[in-house]
Amino acid sequence: MTHLVWFRNDCRILDHAALTEACKRASRNGRPVKAVFLWTPGQWERHDYGLARQYSWSRALDELNSQLARLGIELSILHADTWLEGVETLAAFARENSVTDVYFHREFGWDEVRRDQTLLEYTSRSGIGHHVFEDRVIQTPEHLLTGQQDVYRVFTPFKKRWLSLYQEAGMKAPLPAPQPVADAIMPTATVPDVDWDGDTDMPLTEHSALEQLDRFVNAMPRYRDQRDQPGTDGTSRLSAALANGAVSLRQCFQAAFTHPQASSDGVQTWVSELIWREFYLYLLYWRPELAKHQPFYPRWDAFPWSGDRDTLKHWQQGKTGVPIVDAGMRQLSESGWMHNRVRMITAMYLVKLLQIDWREGERWFARQLLDIDFASNNGGWQWCASTGVDAAPYFRIFNPYTQSERFDPNGHYIRRWLPELSGLDVRSIHNPSDAQRRTLGYTPTLVDYKTARADTLARFKQL
Ligand SMILES: Cc1cc2nc3c(=O)[nH]c(=O)nc-3n(C[C@H](O)[C@H](O)[C@H](O)COP(=O)(O)OP(=O)(O)OC[C@H]3O[C@@H](n4cnc5c(N)ncnc54)[C@H](O)[C@@H]3O)c2cc1C
Repeated sequence: MTHLVWFRNDCRILDHAALTEACKRASRNGRPVKAVFLWTPGQWERHDYGLARQYSWSRALDELNSQLARLGIELSILHADTWLEGVETLAAFARENSVTDVYFHREFGWDEVRRDQTLLEYTSRSGIGHHVFEDRVIQTPEHLLTGQQDVYRVFTPFKKRWLSLYQEAGMKAPLPAPQPVADAIMPTATVPDVDWDGDTDMPLTEHSALEQLDRFVNAMPRYRDQRDQPGTDGTSRLSAALANGAVSLRQCFQAAFTHPQASSDGVQTWVSELIWREFYLYLLYWRPELAKHQPFYPRWDAFPWSGDRDTLKHWQQGKTGVPIVDAGMRQLSESGWMHNRVRMITAMYLVKLLQIDWREGERWFARQLLDIDFASNNGGWQWCASTGVDAAPYFRIFNPYTQSERFDPNGHYIRRWLPELSGLDVRSIHNPSDAQRRTLGYTPTLVDYKTARADTLARFKQL
């Protein structure tokens, strides 16, 4: 008779409602607790989740394995190609281990919902109890509707309502680690080694994520002023840990709302960004077709996208000849992360100046990012492509050179990721002359900004 906790994007032991409840019930009835994680490369491949994300999971699971062992809980990694096969593997595991109850956190997204329904059909048939908890969001999407009982399509009223519900409910403190359910054991799981060739110092495990959150608390009041400067370490860099669940949203909100300078612009802006994350998940819940790569508003769907694979490859490899774009794309492939401002610049460059379908960019980011989160990635791309909710208007086309001068004025970021340009002065580093490009072996630009911009606007008007 076993209680089974199914870990997914929640690789931690603190503030883990499903684990806490399983341990509580186990200590009441003296039954063991076991834990599983489904390792499903085929499924991730279908979702375009690449090796970086698998690496992130493997690091988080390594630590989780030891933490669970200290609580007397065995972790097993179950291998299956897809989630639906994984549910069968999980069902076999449940039979072999006389599982009476399964505990897990709800997830959003088309395939996730189908996967969980399949498991729930199995548990209902087999008389196994299932206990599902909310973890990915603070406000349940079903409860967050406009006065007309409609879905929010604009961020600011969504955020207002979110905050008022948060205040009404009173802040719930994150849960402590559960008490051990048995004597400590040796870690049981063999966590797959992932051969990702990037290099990162992002926190990917529970321990490192909490340390990072602690450090970031000091910088939080300066967040608003520094968040747009990619050459400064001005953001939390917690996105990968939020994606694999090494840190919880509640822990982040608590750090912000109990901050001595909670009402400062810096802290408030950070809170807003976390709510953006939730907004995109909310939209995915209400509009599951987003998971099928459909635009929220199909404004641009008839746009005559360029199918030029060569141009796409140049963008992917950071060889567009626009330093800020190339620096961003190299940061992405070398470190599995990209600064938010540069994500916007590179995305808009691909869609609105190279005229390549935003879904190509979305896919490339998903394959490279440690922090890939379908809802945020999709939301970010649709924002840049002007097809999304509360998105940039179609005529808003970032000039990558002026963005570069404004947000990386000294060229620190460009120098860090494009060392071949490191000797250029602050004026030319944003757009080297033809002669400088030739001398440094730096690529010529793929398109002329003004011409490409005018062409995109003209094509859009024709639609
Ligand atoms: C084209 C594009 C693609 C993106 N893809 C992803 C993705 O796959 N995964 C992802 O987590 N974020 C994505 N973002 C949002 C944002 O770029 C990252 O969350 C941010 O850069 C992470 O760095 P940080 O942890 O230091 O964030 P901070 O600035 O410290 O923000 C704290 C947290 O708030 C959330 N957040 C911040 N900004 C946003 C935003 N604009 N939208 C949604 N959530 C936000 C993240 O969870 C982040 O970790 C994307 C943005 C764009 C424009």
